[in-house]
Amino acid sequence: MTTTPAAADGNLFIVAAPSGAGKSSLIRALLERHNDGSMQVSVSCTTRAPRPGEIDGVHYHFLDVDTFQRKIEANAFYEWAKVFDNYYGTSRVVIEETLKQGIDVFLDIDWQGARQVRDAYPQAQSIFIVPPNLQVLEQRLRSRGQDSDDTIRARMAKAQTEMSHYHEFDYLLVNGDFTDTLANFEHIVMARRQRIALQQQRHAAKLKDLLANDE
Ligand code: GDP
Ligand code: ADP
Ligand code: 5GP
Repeated sequence: MTTTPAAADGNLFIVAAPSGAGKSSLIRALLERHNDGSMQVSVSCTTRAPRPGEIDGVHYHFLDVDTFQRKIEANAFYEWAKVFDNYYGTSRVVIEETLKQGIDVFLDIDWQGARQVRDAYPQAQSIFIVPPNLQVLEQRLRSRGQDSDDTIRARMAKAQTEMSHYHEFDYLLVNGDFTDTLANFEHIVMARRQRIALQQQRHAAKLKDLLANDE
């Protein structure tokens, strides 16, 4: 079902990338720069095992397969998909409630989830991130030091499938220099915040004054 947002609702941003391209780091860095409560990243549910250092409820809600499937049946997910043989899903209530509070929400999801969110919420802005080349992608997966050789091989093999969907997105960021990419990411988000429907509400009095003597 398509959701029609109110003008003052937060903005929904979909961020996708092949594993290791830097989407989590970019979202985290943007949230650190805007730690005023105006933006949040959605914490997904997943059936994959936690990596060293990952905290339940912070990085993901870690669920077993049965619980995940029960949630699918209960329509608890805004979107869900099977990625690398694990289930991943975005909680419906959390997204809807957060947007209603005027808070911008980032979804770190794969291309299958991105399609579902675009269909349900056409106002969502979608951003695809690619690495400068495949060697750098592999280096980043290795330097993160959190996945086994087998997992890294599987993720590299899937990287090109993921990237082949880049043209379904509104924006493409090439994550070479991190600071430059973060600046471009921030510009996309800030531009969206100035959209007319929202500015009309936010600056209603000012616009009325400005147009007071208009014939
Ligand atoms: P990462 O790619 O290294 O961040 O590894 P993860 O295991 O955290 O994520 C694997 C893939 O699942 C990535 O493409 C994520 O974007 C995707 N993913 C994570 N959460 C969700 C979700 O809630 N829904 C969907 N559809 N995909 C998700
Ligand atoms: P993803 O969430 O897309 O899987 P991460 O954000 O975990 O990717 O990034 C993968 C690794 O690459 C991390 O170790 C991160 O610190 C590093 N990284 C991300 N962006 C850059 C960049 N522009 N330059 C160098 N290293 C980066
Ligand atoms: P200003 O309108 O003065 O630029 O922003 C005031 C506050 O509102 C800041 O905390 C800013 O981050 C936040 N803000 C501005 N635009 C939006 C928006 O579209 N969505 C959300 N969630 N917060 C916004």
